Amino acid sequence: MSEAVVASHLRENPYELAKSQLRKVGDVFSIDANLIRVLSQCKKAVEVSIPVAMDDGSVEVFAGYRVTHNIARGPSKGGIRYHPDVTLDEVKSLSMWMTWKCALMALPFGGAKGGVVCDPKSLSASELERMTRRYTSEIINDIGPERDIPAPDVGTDGRVMAWIFDTYSMNKGHSVLGVVTGKPLSIGGSLGREEATARGSLYCIQALSVKEGKRVSDYTVSIQGFGNVGAHLARLLHGEGATVVAVSDSRGGVYNPMGIDIPAALAHKQEAGTLTGLANADPVTNEELVELECDIFAPCALEQVVTEENADRVKATIVCEGANGPVTPAADAILEDRGVLVLPDVLANAGGVIVSYFEWVQGLQEYFWREDEVNAKLHDIVGRAFEETWQTRASRDTTMRMAAYGIAVQRVAEATTTRGLYP
Ligand code: NAD
Repeated sequence: MSEAVVASHLRENPYELAKSQLRKVGDVFSIDANLIRVLSQCKKAVEVSIPVAMDDGSVEVFAGYRVTHNIARGPSKGGIRYHPDVTLDEVKSLSMWMTWKCALMALPFGGAKGGVVCDPKSLSASELERMTRRYTSEIINDIGPERDIPAPDVGTDGRVMAWIFDTYSMNKGHSVLGVVTGKPLSIGGSLGREEATARGSLYCIQALSVKEGKRVSDYTVSIQGFGNVGAHLARLLHGEGATVVAVSDSRGGVYNPMGIDIPAALAHKQEAGTLTGLANADPVTNEELVELECDIFAPCALEQVVTEENADRVKATIVCEGANGPVTPAADAILEDRGVLVLPDVLANAGGVIVSYFEWVQGLQEYFWREDEVNAKLHDIVGRAFEETWQTRASRDTTMRMAAYGIAVQRVAEATTTRGLYP
């Protein structure tokens, strides 16, 4: 009997897409072709095998990756993804986007990403812990507070970060707070980190609402993905009075044009482990959710959700990329032609890496800030990056994505030129 093969969310090679975006930025911003060639490649890609003793006595071997795209502006920074569809090229594309995101936010970091090909939902807590600790051991010489600093991404959370922190620290013989961010508060996490990505998205939407002469409460929003980014974004937007008409997780979504009761949805997800069956809402598929009538569509799950096949059916006038790479370049062109404004990933979901930066700084100083200080500093950085992107979009007569990537790539190119090519 053959096993059912679940189609990957990756229809196109994401690394090729990231490189084609970079070439376009190079053209639009007249960046030296030599530099674009350098920045098209990842500095280092580590591939490891992770043997794990399973609870039933068998041994499974998982494939893991850690990729550093660039360190011209500082140590590399980026999340670790646990998902069955992880590929080396996906990790490379995500690491390149991290370089641009950190540069756009003017953080002293380069870009990195990691991943393990696994289905974390099918692993017991002890299997997950053994897998995480072995993966950490395999990449232990590649990570570190001055070298490369992981964080959570799809399928990982504070608990996984705690195991990485502990494994690294045990091997060094002392606690190394700066090796990983997104840690629980009890072991050096930062206040505000958990919801920071969504809070950054909210600040972008607020800044855009001011440009449009509106208030956040004027918007209707549909949100795909109900994990760290999507669920917090739904909660924060609901709190600001926006009407969240649809939310979804990997099993499907729920829709109510009058607005979903978000506190009830959060409680239902917590209890039932799914959004399905939520009262006062109709079921909706993830494919339908992309095309719902609303002002803002916020993809907060995986890449390549809006493609050339469905871009002309997106009804939202604003797409806020909570996820990384949810709109393909071909879809981008269609949305641009149709006048849809895309708040690009490197801007719209940068709140996570910003507060990760704060956590790293606090860990190095062993001095921790209040939550209102964290949020105020986050607001400053996102607000400044939004304004720079908005101005560049106007002065270059281009899209928010091209403007954001252009600012970022120019900063990395300048750092690379200033440092000079070694040797
Ligand atoms: P998560 O694992 O906490 O949540 C992912 C959510 O997406 C879950 O609700 C899951 O059920 C849902 N999902 C999975 N497959 C889906 C599918 N095919 N269709 C619809 N929903 C699906 O992950 P996260 O940390 O919230 O990350 C989500 C996205 O945001 C990713 O693209 C990630 O790279 C990006 N991101 C995360 C952070 C962060 O701080 N966690 C920061 C920046 C960007």
